[in-house]
Amino acid sequence: MKRRKFLKKSSLSTAGILSAPVLASCKSEPKTETAISPTKTIKPIVICTWNFLNASAKAWEVLSNSGSSLDAVEAGVMVEEADVNNQTVGVGGRPDREGRVTLDACIMDKDANCGAVLCMENIAHPISVARKVMEETPHVILAGKGAELFAYQQGFEKTNLLTEQSKKEWEEWKKTSKYETIINIENHDTIGMLAIDENGDIAGACTTSGMGYKMAGRVGDSPIIGAGLFVDNEVGGATATGVGEEVVRTVGSFLIVELMRQGKSPQEACEEGVRRIMKKNEGREDFQIGFIAVNKKGETGGYCVHPGFTYREYSEKGHENKSVESFYQS
Ligand code: ASP
Repeated sequence: MKRRKFLKKSSLSTAGILSAPVLASCKSEPKTETAISPTKTIKPIVICTWNFLNASAKAWEVLSNSGSSLDAVEAGVMVEEADVNNQTVGVGGRPDREGRVTLDACIMDKDANCGAVLCMENIAHPISVARKVMEETPHVILAGKGAELFAYQQGFEKTNLLTEQSKKEWEEWKKTSKYETIINIENHDTIGMLAIDENGDIAGACTTSGMGYKMAGRVGDSPIIGAGLFVDNEVGGATATGVGEEVVRTVGSFLIVELMRQGKSPQEACEEGVRRIMKKNEGREDFQIGFIAVNKKGETGGYCVHPGFTYREYSEKGHENKSVESFYQS
C-alpha cells in the first residue's frame, strides 16, 4: 500500500532522564555535520527517558552510521522492548490486573507520518508494528486484537510477554492490592526517544507496557500522538513519561513542541508543561510526570516531578534546584 503522505519515584533524580548527548560524548564523533541554516550546524543526537543506556547506544550506532532518525529511534527503543528485566516495556512488562500484558507504542517521523498500536498482546516489538501501521496502512492507530492480527499478517511472531518474574509479582499484588483502581506511583515507566540524524531530521518513538496492574483495556498517553509523543520537524520533538492520564489531559508532548515554536527552549518548554499539569493537581503527591524535548537546533531539555514532590515544592524549589530535574547533560 502506498505510503501516506499526511501524511520510581524520586530515584528519577539520580537515575535521571538521560540525555544522550551524554552518551554521544562517550562515543566517537559523528562523521558529518549538517547545515540547517547558513549560520548554524547541528550534529546527530539522541535523547531518551530514564537511564536506558543500551537503548540510546543502539540508536547512536544507527545515527553514527548515517542512519535516519526514524531507524534510530525504532532500533533504540526495541532494545528495551526485548529486555525481560525491564518490567515497564515490551517482554517482561507488568500485566494488567487480569494478568495480561498489553503494550502501547507510537512512532512519528519528519514528515508527520505516524503510527500507533494500543493495548496489543503477544507481540514483542510494538514499536515495529506501529511503524508498519504508519507505512503499510491508511490508518494511524490499530488497537487490541486488530493490531495483533495485523502484526501476524506482517510476519511478527506470537510471543509470551508475561515472564515468571512479572507473573509472580502480579500474584503477590493480587493478594495485597484489594484490587483497587489507583494511580500508583511505583509501577510505571516508559521509554520515549527522540533523535536528529545527520540530515537534521527529527523522529520520535514511545513504547510501554503502561501502568502496572492497570484496568483491562486501559491505554495511557504513550501511544497517543500529541500526548506521549509529538514531532514537528520544523520545530522539534517531545515525549513523556509518567501518569498517562495527566499527560493526555494536557496533550502534553504537543504542548511542549508548541511552546518551543513560540520561542521557549526545550528546557523551558518541559518545565512549563510539567508546571501546567502540577497546577491542576496542587497538593497531590501520588504521581510522576516527565518530559524530554529536543529542538531543531539540537538543544535538549528535560523535566520531571515525582512522588513526594508536590506542586508547592516545585514552585518553591523547582527552578533553583537542578538536582530535582531528573535530567543531565554533559
Ligand atoms: N506514561 C505511561 C502510561 O501512562 C507510563 C509511564 O510512563 O510511566 O502508560
